[in-house]
Amino acid sequence: MTSLLECRNVVYSYGDGTKALKSVSISLDEGQKIALVGPNGAGKSTLMLMLNGILRPSVGEVLFHDRAFQYDSASLREIRRKVGMVFQNSDDQLFAPTVFQDVAFGPVNLGFPKDKVKLYADYALQYVGLSGYERRPPHHLSGGEKKRVAIAGILAMEPEVLILDEPTSNLDPASAEEIMEMLDELNCGGKTIIISTHDVDLAYRWADEVILMEDGGVLLRGTGQEVFGDAELIKRARLKLPIVVDLYKELVGRGLLIGSKPPRNVLELTDLLETGTRGTAFQEVLGKIYICNVDEPDPEGIKDILERSHVSYIGAMGTNAKIMAEHAGIPLDFTYGVIDKCILKALVGKDSLIMTSGGMIDHSLKRIRAYCQESGAEIEVVKLSSPAESGVNRDR
Ligand code: ADP
Repeated sequence: MTSLLECRNVVYSYGDGTKALKSVSISLDEGQKIALVGPNGAGKSTLMLMLNGILRPSVGEVLFHDRAFQYDSASLREIRRKVGMVFQNSDDQLFAPTVFQDVAFGPVNLGFPKDKVKLYADYALQYVGLSGYERRPPHHLSGGEKKRVAIAGILAMEPEVLILDEPTSNLDPASAEEIMEMLDELNCGGKTIIISTHDVDLAYRWADEVILMEDGGVLLRGTGQEVFGDAELIKRARLKLPIVVDLYKELVGRGLLIGSKPPRNVLELTDLLETGTRGTAFQEVLGKIYICNVDEPDPEGIKDILERSHVSYIGAMGTNAKIMAEHAGIPLDFTYGVIDKCILKALVGKDSLIMTSGGMIDHSLKRIRAYCQESGAEIEVVKLSSPAESGVNRDR
């Protein structure tokens, strides 16, 4: 893995003398999902603004692909194109009279010809599931839709990195999950994603790497298990433990579980509990997981799959898969955490179907295989390359 963004001894003071960053040295790897966590005032937003050149270090330097940032306007334009920033409050980002104009602003500013601007803006709007919203005024949209427009505006410039300050704040749980799934999808497509969040449960289950900040510095970085495994440090940073870790610690404390390291998610916790209480985590006959890619829009084909198959549950991953399910009138049981939920159902003998889009199929297969290898469960995965290949009916 190569270092993508790096801060070397970065110090930053605001105009009023507040020292927001106190010698931060950190290097961020390509292709990672990174969460900055820490209490208010820890310096997360300041660090993010530093990483796309909106702020310039008082001392130290920031590097992209091992080259120090230059702060002339041409270099900054290039950095901001490659390292896109989505602000916490979408109203600070969206200003044009229509959604299309907003999303096209970046490519227009980069001097792209008109047809290329349209191509990029159309692609970005389709990616975030907002085709058809082009003429609407952004300020009339819901919070989740505004966030999608803001993300589309960044995507239209083809960034390598997306930085999102508190991407789920002020969103209802379903919209928040949809945004996080979209970030997963973008990451599967090769983009590095950096978020800041107060939501420790989100950081724990979503991020490959967690960076814990406090008082203008980095306290600890590592996997979620490493960072949230240090309960004392988490308390010092005035955060709480993710609920899965908290519950695990209680169960270990009461002697109901033998602890080695905290589970990553509900699936792993359930496995630990089942092996702890019954000696086996699995039913004798495991359910199957069907997976189909719906990038080729064919609602009738999907309906056909459902009519001829026996799945108990259906989940959709990826914006287009969800849109397709809606168009086809397919009621979804799972719209987030889909892979783990389908594995949980397979473990109790139920079949499920995962509809995927945007390259998420390989990600799903990898995750299921990794689970099977680690746990010893032999869950059959049936990959449906075309809808006509399956034979399934919903049968709960
Ligand atoms: P976080 O994102 O972790 O809440 P910030 O980066 O926003 O932290 O803030 C770090 C420190 O800088 C805090 O003490 C905050 O009050 C201060 N700060 C942030 N923005 C400004 C500003 N525009 N002017 C002066 N001080 C600021």
